[in-house]
Amino acid sequence: MGWFTEYWTDYVKLSVRIKKHVFSKETKYQKIDIYDSYEFGRFMALDGYIMLTERDEFIYHEMIAHLPMNANPAIRKVLVIGGGDGGTVRELLRYPDVVVDMVEIDEEVVRVCREYLPLTAHAFDNPRVHLMFADGIEYVEKAEKTYDLIIVDSTDPSGPGLSLYKNEFYKNCQRLLSDEGIFINQHESPYFDDTRASMRDIHRKLKPLFPIATIYQAFIPTYPSGHWLFGYASKKTHPEFRGDEKLLASFKLKYYNKEVHQAAFALPNYVREGL
Ligand code: SAM
Repeated sequence: MGWFTEYWTDYVKLSVRIKKHVFSKETKYQKIDIYDSYEFGRFMALDGYIMLTERDEFIYHEMIAHLPMNANPAIRKVLVIGGGDGGTVRELLRYPDVVVDMVEIDEEVVRVCREYLPLTAHAFDNPRVHLMFADGIEYVEKAEKTYDLIIVDSTDPSGPGLSLYKNEFYKNCQRLLSDEGIFINQHESPYFDDTRASMRDIHRKLKPLFPIATIYQAFIPTYPSGHWLFGYASKKTHPEFRGDEKLLASFKLKYYNKEVHQAAFALPNYVREGL
C-alpha cells in the first residue's frame, strides 16, 4: 500500500505510509476517509486533512478538555460544537458531574467513528451526552441555555467549519456562557502563513468579546508544523490551574498535568507578536 499525503502549504506536505484505506465516503458536508498506518495507527481525514490518529489524539483531546475543567472545577454544563470523533466528550465525561450537549453537523462522521474509531467514539454511549446533528452556528443562534463551558472542536476555517469562525457565532457563544464560563476553540497554528493568518483572525474576533482572551499551545505531530494552539476566553475566569490534583492523577492522563497547564500559556515571542 502507498502513502497518504496532506498538504500543509503549497511547498510542504506530510506523507504517512498506509497499510490500508479502510473507508471512504463523500457526505453532504465533506469527504470522510479512514486509514490504517504503520506510524500513527488508524486515523480519520476529512477533506484530505488528518483530524485524529490513534497514536496522538490524546494530546489534542486532553488539552482541549482538561485545561478548562481545571481552570474552573465548578463546570457542569458543557456545549461541544463539532467533535464528531468523540475524543473531546470522552475526556469531559471523566468528571462525574459534567453533562454535555454536543452539536455535530455531519451524522455520518459519528457513525463512521463509532464503527472504525471506538477508541474515541465509545463516549457517545454515555447517558450524560445529548448528541444533536445541526450546524453549530444555527444551534447557538437559537439556544437559550446557559453553559459553564463551550468547546469548539471544529475542522479548519473552510467547508462546513467556516461558519464556526464568524463573529456572529462567537457573539452567540458569549451570550450562552455563564459569568464564570469558559470558551475554548481549536485555534490553528502560529507557524505557516495561512494558519498564522487564521490564528490572528480568530484572536481579533474574540478579543473584543471577552475581557480575558488568550491562547495556549500543545505539540501535535500530525497537525501542520506540530505547534498547535487553542483559544481560551472568559468574562471573568483567568486560566490558572485550580483543579483537584488527586482526581487528576486518578485519570492517568498521558499529556495534561498541572505544570503543562501553566506552561501551555508561555508563548514564544514570535507567537505573541503574531497575535
Ligand atoms: N480534532 C480535529 C481537529 O482539530 O482538526 C477536529 C475534530 S472533529 C473531527 C471536527 C468536526 O467538526 C467534524 O466532525 C465536522 O463534521 C464538524 N463540523 C464542521 N463544521 C461544523 C459546523 N458548522 N457545525 C457543527 N459541526 C461542524
